[in-house]
Amino acid sequence: MKLLRAMREPLKYVQGKDALLKFHEEMGYMGKRWLFICSRSGYKACHDKIEKSFEGTDDFRRYEVFGGISSKGEIAKMKKIVEEDKIDVVVAAGGGSAVDTAKATAYYCKKHIVVIPTVVATDAPCTGLSVIYNDDGSFNTYLFYPTNPDAVIVDSQVIANAPVEFLISGMGDALGTYFEGRASIRTESPSLEGTGITRSGLGLARLCYDTLRAYGSQAIKACENHVVTPALDAIIEANTYMSGVGADNVNCAAAHSFYNGLTSLGGHKASHGFCVAFGTLVQLVLEGVVKEEFDDVQGFCIEVGLPITLEELGITKDEEIRKIAENACAEGETIHNLAGDVTPDELYAAIIATDAMGKAVLGK
Ligand SMILES: [Zn+2]
Repeated sequence: MKLLRAMREPLKYVQGKDALLKFHEEMGYMGKRWLFICSRSGYKACHDKIEKSFEGTDDFRRYEVFGGISSKGEIAKMKKIVEEDKIDVVVAAGGGSAVDTAKATAYYCKKHIVVIPTVVATDAPCTGLSVIYNDDGSFNTYLFYPTNPDAVIVDSQVIANAPVEFLISGMGDALGTYFEGRASIRTESPSLEGTGITRSGLGLARLCYDTLRAYGSQAIKACENHVVTPALDAIIEANTYMSGVGADNVNCAAAHSFYNGLTSLGGHKASHGFCVAFGTLVQLVLEGVVKEEFDDVQGFCIEVGLPITLEELGITKDEEIRKIAENACAEGETIHNLAGDVTPDELYAAIIATDAMGKAVLGK
């Protein structure tokens, strides 16, 4: 039987300047006892506004400043707090680690989960899965949840105050969404959540790309100057909602496999979004798209400062490229969602060609 098509998303998504001043107004229906799992910077950016939103209530609030990774040990620690303090709602305030720890804690304790992203660098806030690590920092597993978070609330001023690199990196992650989704639906591959892909999912992914193109460079200027404009708000929504919900409901393809291949080298510094952006260009070469489309995406990368050459990712040696190509094509990698499949040799060729076209544009 064919896979059933399905669409998943957070039950509630709230975004805007100073949105956290309305935290309680928007989320109060979920309970009276709150655990906030915050990164250090997340606590600083959000605490005062959240507290203000609780003025006049007698709700219980506990803040745990969290410096670790989403490991089994940290999750067990948070579970204990939820039980001892009879928490109703677990809230994440921070980047990926705080988000994944809070999601897992809420899931195991069967509590509500609210996510407050304080950077918009990845798809993590809106998706229905977490990356879980062992206590020594090595990868343990992907934890798939039956639903997406109860709510995601993004304070655009918090994002405007964060370093612009995160915003640009998030645009790189968002850049892959449409092209990877388009490739996945062509081969009727399952979505990231294991269901059939909907037209709605692909539509959102397309809107994500169009929004990036329309507002990317303007949003960067706003963020560099720590002000919220309609363009910045558009990119925050693209990076967080359109890309996160989009990716969840379509699937990844070669762009994310390129990232996985690259991280398999170990000790690598380039951000997730930077790798996905270059990986998107590589995927377009693999797919043999016409010049207009390739130039369009490459031009966007140049415009917003995403990498178009390997050198910008810190890759200089041929044996590294061979290894990336080999590992990106490992069994189970999403690159196999491409029509006609891909061999390491073909991927190697596409990486070299993408890099050469980047160098040509940069006059190198
Ligand atoms: Zn990603």
